[in-house]
Order: sequence, then structure tokens, then C-alpha cells
Amino acid sequence: MTEGEPVGCHDCGALYRWRPLADGQRARCTRCGNVLYRWFAHGPAPTPASMVAVTLGAVLVYLIAQCFPIVELEMNGLTSGATLLQAIGVLWNERMEVIAAMVFFFAVAFPALELGALLYVSAGLLRGRRPPGFHLLLRVVQGARHWAMTEVLMIGILVTAIKMTSLARVIPHPGLFAFAALTILAAVALRYEPRALWALGEQIDPAPRPPEEAAPAQPIDCHACGLLNGGACEGRHCRRCGAVLHRRIPNSITWTWALLAAAAMLYVPANILPVMYTESIGGTGGDTIMSGVVLFWETGSPGLAIVIFVASVLVPVSKLVALAVLAGTAQWGSRWAPAGRTRVYRMVEFIGRWSMLDIFVVTLTVALVRFQTLAVITAGPGALAFGCVVILTMIASSRFDPRLIWDPLNGESHA
Ligand SMILES: [Zn+2]
Ligand SMILES: [Zn+2]
Repeated sequence: MTEGEPVGCHDCGALYRWRPLADGQRARCTRCGNVLYRWFAHGPAPTPASMVAVTLGAVLVYLIAQCFPIVELEMNGLTSGATLLQAIGVLWNERMEVIAAMVFFFAVAFPALELGALLYVSAGLLRGRRPPGFHLLLRVVQGARHWAMTEVLMIGILVTAIKMTSLARVIPHPGLFAFAALTILAAVALRYEPRALWALGEQIDPAPRPPEEAAPAQPIDCHACGLLNGGACEGRHCRRCGAVLHRRIPNSITWTWALLAAAAMLYVPANILPVMYTESIGGTGGDTIMSGVVLFWETGSPGLAIVIFVASVLVPVSKLVALAVLAGTAQWGSRWAPAGRTRVYRMVEFIGRWSMLDIFVVTLTVALVRFQTLAVITAGPGALAFGCVVILTMIASSRFDPRLIWDPLNGESHA
């Protein structure tokens, strides 16, 4: 970026002029409070060498985490342990292929994609150039990061391990420590934001961008790399990263309503049907999400009960309500509290992933509790419905265009 170049706010569409920032500073939108850009979050800008070191470390820890068992249970002389991939395999063999696929993508595939692409990009920058496919891979990092849930999985592992202590002896294995280390390294790697890397890439390896077109249209800011494309038309490609440009996300409100309606319908079976079946000497029983929360509460783990209640009940319900309010007010062109509604939107985007917690707990529990005649836990249809609710609401919030909140104040409507 060069001084004076225009920048658009991702959340409300306001226009600003870019000026350089010192390390750790951030430029905020005066209208909605969104961070417009920062030169790397928290502290000094990373050098390509430190980025390669952190990412390479994360890749190695990731491999250890995936190859070794996480915990082992011991019960009356019988033991049972599993790696994450084995746990996914158990679900798959129990004909819960959809949940197995969800866990595979969120806990195995997307983290691998994110780290692999980040390693490739930072290794290229270390050699002083933008490697081939730089733009595509930064977009891969951006997309994979949205769906990679290493930190949620880590909490899921801890919840499962604590839960299992009432049933059997829990022996930690290398996979557990590797996942803990991976969570920390992945959090460090979160500092390497694709938007900042786009700017860093241009600084390290300046290459001329194609010139702006002369047509004096209102500029469109790229949803991927954040570059403001002057004179561009709807449906054209970004001059820097090649993403398709849209003034507003196409059919944003229709999509949000459709996905929300599907999620709300599935929310009913998700709460009524059992997420887990337990077969033990004492008999067979099904557990719904709420009965699981009550059980934790009654068996003296109020902390776990609260964690599961917040992640599985409070977060999904408040997300459904918040998105309905956002879509409704945007559709009716409401001018009510735009900054507050934008904050609600950012919160919905931030908390959405945490609802997957229960799905991870179910997966690990089902894989670990396999003591032939003593106790076997299998997944129930409620888990499938619940997983779909989480994914549908995550897509719904990413289809909602927050700039629609501000359009009535600009005297224009793109809905
Ligand atoms: Zn703004
Ligand atoms: Zn772009």
C-alpha cells in the first residue's frame, strides 16, 4: 500500500486514506469501530524468518498430534485409547459418516491446509519474493482459518478427559500434549493475517498492479485482500489477488434467511433426539444435550455443565436470534443502532465455532468408551442434527453482509 491510497471498511463500507502505522498500532473505523488495518496485531511485525520458524514448528507438532493416541482409558484391567483419526474412523464405521466428515474437516483437514499454505507463503517471502500462487494460497489461509477449530478441539479433549475420570482411569498420551502445543502455536500463527501478508508481500517483492480503469465508478473493496479497486465493476476480478468483486455479497439477506430457517428447523431434533447412547451393565440409555448438562451438574461437575450449556445451548440460540434480528433490520432498512448491530455481527462471527465443542466431545467419548461387555457409547441422531445447525449458522453469518446495516444511512439500498 502507498500513502494516500483509499481503504474501505470491511464491516460498514466507509472510505479512508491509508497511512503507515507503527508496530502494534491499528487503524479503526470511526463509524463502526472495526479495525481497518494494522501492521501486525500485538507487538512488532514478524520477520519472514520468524514466520517460517513458528509455522514449521506448528506443522511438526500437528503431525505428532495426529499420529499419537490422545488419552487411554483403563477400566477393570481393560484399556482403550485412540488417535484423533481412529476416533473419526470409529464414527464412520458406526454409520455416522456425516459427523465423522465434519470432525475430519474441522480438526484435521482445515488446520493442515492453513498451516501448509502459511508455511509455503512465508518460505517464499523468506527468499525475498512472492512465490507462485501467492494470492491463491493466502485466500486458502483465510478460508481454512475460518473453519479450522484446533482450539475448540483442545477444549473438547479436556472436557472429555475430565468427564471420563468418573468412569475409568485416564492416562494422558503424547497426542494430548501435542494438541496443547499446537493450540498455542496456532494462536501465534493467527497473528499472520492474510491481509497484512498481502501488504507485506507487496513490500518485499513490489510488482506493478494492472492500472485502474478510467471509469469513475465508486470503488469496490475486495472481500479477500481488502484492496479498494477504483473504477471496477461488479463481478470483475480484484487487481491484486484476483478474487471476484462484489459491492455487496450477492443475495445476502435471502441466503441468510434461508440458512437460518434450515438451522432453526434442525435445532428442534438436535435438542429432542439423543446425542449419545450408553450401553452398560446397568442398561441402555440415551442422552440429549440438556440431559448431559444436567448429569454434569448433578454429578458434581458444575464447571463442565456450564461450559457445555454455554457452547451447546446459549451460543446456538443467541446466534439464531441475533442473525434473525440482523437480517430483519437490514431488510427493512432500519436505522436503529447501526454501530451496536455491527458489534453483534462481529460477535456472532467470533463465537460461532465454539458450538462444535459438543460434537468433538461426542466423537472422542464414542471412540474411547469401548469396553465390550462393560460399557459402550455410540453416537445418536441428535449429534448429526446439532452439527448441521452449527455449520448452517456459520455459513449464514458469513453470507450476511454487515455493510447492509449501514446502507440506509448512506441513502442507498443494495438489498
Ligand atoms: Zn466501519
Ligand atoms: Zn483482492
